[in-house]
Amino acid sequence: MTLPPYVADPYRPVRRRTREVLVGDVAIGGTNPIRVQSMTTTDTQDTRGSVEQIERLAKAGCEIVRLTAPSIRDAENLREIQAELARRRVRVPLVADIHFTPNAALVAAEHVQKVRVNPGNYADKKKFEVREYDDRAYALEIERVAERFRPLVRRCKELGRAMRIGTNHGSLSDRILNRYGDTPAGMVASALEFLDVCEDEGFCDVVFSMKASNTQVAIQAYRLLAARLEERAPGEPGYPFHVGVTEAGDGEDGRVKSAIGIGALLEDGLGDTIRVSLTEDPVREIPVARALADRYDRRFAGLAPAAGVSPGAPFTDDPFAHSRRATQPVRVGAISMGAVEPVRAELELGAVPTAPRAAADSLSISLAVRAEIACEGVVVDSDAESAARLADFASALVAVGVRAPLSARVPAAVVDAAAKSVARVIVPVGSATPESDLDSAAEAAAAHGIALEWSLAGAPAAIPALVDRTLDAARRAGLEHALYGVDSELPVHASRALAARLRARGADAAPIVLRHGRSPDLSDEEAVLRAATDLGAPLCDGIGDAVAIGGFDDPGRALDLAYRVLQGARLRTSWTEFISCPSCGRTLFDLEETTARIKALTQHLKGVKIAIMGCIVNGPGEMADADFGYVGAGPGIVNLYVGKEVVDRQVPQDEAPEKLVDLIRRHGRWVEPG
Ligand code: SF4
Repeated sequence: MTLPPYVADPYRPVRRRTREVLVGDVAIGGTNPIRVQSMTTTDTQDTRGSVEQIERLAKAGCEIVRLTAPSIRDAENLREIQAELARRRVRVPLVADIHFTPNAALVAAEHVQKVRVNPGNYADKKKFEVREYDDRAYALEIERVAERFRPLVRRCKELGRAMRIGTNHGSLSDRILNRYGDTPAGMVASALEFLDVCEDEGFCDVVFSMKASNTQVAIQAYRLLAARLEERAPGEPGYPFHVGVTEAGDGEDGRVKSAIGIGALLEDGLGDTIRVSLTEDPVREIPVARALADRYDRRFAGLAPAAGVSPGAPFTDDPFAHSRRATQPVRVGAISMGAVEPVRAELELGAVPTAPRAAADSLSISLAVRAEIACEGVVVDSDAESAARLADFASALVAVGVRAPLSARVPAAVVDAAAKSVARVIVPVGSATPESDLDSAAEAAAAHGIALEWSLAGAPAAIPALVDRTLDAARRAGLEHALYGVDSELPVHASRALAARLRARGADAAPIVLRHGRSPDLSDEEAVLRAATDLGAPLCDGIGDAVAIGGFDDPGRALDLAYRVLQGARLRTSWTEFISCPSCGRTLFDLEETTARIKALTQHLKGVKIAIMGCIVNGPGEMADADFGYVGAGPGIVNLYVGKEVVDRQVPQDEAPEKLVDLIRRHGRWVEPG
């Protein structure tokens, strides 16, 4: 059966229509701004510590705060926390986070404004059992879970509390896992079973989340949920979404992963409240979440009705699964782009340097400190006057050992002059570009046998016509293969319009290059987030055979970011993948410090996935597809895992990082650093 679309229009920004859900006096959904929230890392029975952290979060701009309620005593203490917050005049609604403890949920509902339940473990113990369920056994299980869940729904309805049905990849029930696997379809099915009970009870103050540490899985699950909800109630405002990438980790990787997953969904208009999960002080999550939310609040608030785009074909056959566009390889000097080649990483350096040798020296020094990643393309901007310096710069790059092919962004009239010195010309094309320019650019590139990349400038609606004109020019010139890119205020939508139109014209073999230039008015953190979303979202759509970043003072830093985006989008792995939980009141050790210690020992293990999880209750499930796991098992005690199997129990915390290294060694995945 065909699903309804998950988004009103994939080629222009449209916010999903949702109903409003009140969490205390903070409204989520509808036309309200995207709400920013976080979670405490304190022990919920520590009233003072929790209140102080909530106060700091609220001051930083956090609009909703969640606390774990792993026991009835924790749930009862939420009353004390509320009372102390009221004494201090801190007005922020609280959410109780429930896993495995329905009794605590009923108590918590008395004291907080919202309860989060995880359908994977609300009424199920996690045993990782493989068991066959026939339809009758499956239906009986659903009935059992529903009866366990129903009292909470009734109580929330009576008290006017909101509820989040929060499914996590990796913590699905054994029943769902056995039928659907650990898939977006299973996540959605699990959540909808809980919604059935809510709707049966006439309770609609529901918010959904579908979190995963794998950005692609998170995007697919939220999209699938949007489509399924639309299928249940066509044309009705849907339930709001709480969007996040769970266990994103810390530092730049945590920010990049969050900006890819959350940003991609907000690009689709999916997301009414967001939480950025970093393995850091939760207060540091707030500016990151704020920057992401503000971009889309501004976009949706100031949105003039954009022109529709009719590219003539969808940009993908399946928006609920990842598959990279199938393309033909195109040579750019010694580098091949597209087809089965890895998604390439390039640098944009701005204008052709006036002192080529000095610029090449400085580039080589900047790249030398990042020996683990390769610069696979250097792009400069040139005009008729500076084209004469391109040859010198190309020679200087070779002289200092930078082997990346040199490309030049040039006006069509300069292609002929530049073509002798570079491996590729990038030709800007806008609605006003004359046909004769397109012809001369295509003819010159064909005559010199170099690669040509059309850079289509404009709003998404303008892209299809530009594709048509460049394809026609290439045909007239006998130019067989070209690369494509967009230069747009809405790069995610424009990239889709490009991919879709190429497909409609039977030219979908053309590789696409995703280019991003840092905006000078952004802070360093905002610039990282912006690049991660604008490049990562198309990559998760399967679009992109190369990424290029420019505008950073240090080119090596820009290249590093490009590779982190590729890793965050799960397209290319250059370092160890860390999946670390943000920690909460269940955490049994200092997660931030431990993560730093483990990272220092293992971050060079390209392709290895290591999970660092704060507690044994949720940790093993939510480690998702990690190869090795480091999970808090008790105060000062850690269990070590290979996959989902615990192999070393009760390891003292001080010895655990080194034991983890031993374990990785024993399983043949260790390499010496450097
Ligand atoms: S895995 Fe981490 S964030 Fe999740 S419940 Fe356990 S300690 Fe809390």
